[in-house]
Amino acid sequence: MNAKIFCVANQKGGVGKTTTTVNLAAGLAKVGQRVLMVDLDPQGNATMGSGVDKRKLSLTVYDVLLESASVAEARARSEKCGYDVLGANRELAGAEVELVHVERRDQRLKQALGAAAQDYDFILIDCPPSLSMLTLNGLCSAHGVIVPMQCEYFALEGLTDLVNTIKQVHANMNKDLQIIGLLRVMFDPRITLQQQVSDQLKSHFAEKVFDTVIPRNVRLAEAPSYGLPGVVFDPGARGSQAYVEFAHEMVERIKKM
Ligand code: ATP
Ligand code: MG
Repeated sequence: MNAKIFCVANQKGGVGKTTTTVNLAAGLAKVGQRVLMVDLDPQGNATMGSGVDKRKLSLTVYDVLLESASVAEARARSEKCGYDVLGANRELAGAEVELVHVERRDQRLKQALGAAAQDYDFILIDCPPSLSMLTLNGLCSAHGVIVPMQCEYFALEGLTDLVNTIKQVHANMNKDLQIIGLLRVMFDPRITLQQQVSDQLKSHFAEKVFDTVIPRNVRLAEAPSYGLPGVVFDPGARGSQAYVEFAHEMVERIKKM
């Protein structure tokens, strides 16, 4: 069976997209799944956070988008993390402009991933904090979107733009696309407001809210400076255990897709 492809997206910055992508990738690898992690953010944080040095890559997702390399040529193996990485670096920031005059430019990633899909069970795409051409390429490639969010006051408001974009992509470009779920991250149950927003989320979005909750956990924040996801850096940490639990939830979820 071909890989199920998921975007980790939220146009809001710093909400835990990259942390979720690399830790879910590592969690899935840990439970025996074959995983490709695609970094669609010119910041290259998911690449570095998977132990792949973005400055040393000769081929990246940029070359794949411009059709000068295939996924098979451009991917790197992260031995420590147990998954493959299609990396990104600052070069990717130029892709937006370079693709302006290209036909079906929002389908470039989809076509490229199609050729590699039989090698994997999961392909996870870390999106940048915007609804740009790069994010659009991600959304056009995917079967579903995972939306990490913090349970803060403006969280629901911020979701409206993303939900509308996903609806438009679904209607016009990618019939497969759906929101798989909202993932509550950096959660602190002692904060009453977070509990309230969490309850609101569940009443609005019902089964679209994942059962797993990722706690705020400093080990998850420390791990990137060692070039590792928390799941690999400190498997015993509460945050790491939560991401492995989330990996199990995703494995169950795709059985119903
Ligand atoms: P950007 O929009 O810039 O791409 P992002 O949405 O990818 O950001 P991250 O980089 O994953 O967000 O996380 C933002 C910050 O929060 C990072 O410093 C990260 O280490 C920290 N962080 C993420 N999740 C947790 C958590 N569960 N507990 C503690 N810190 C966390
Ligand atoms: Mg990020």
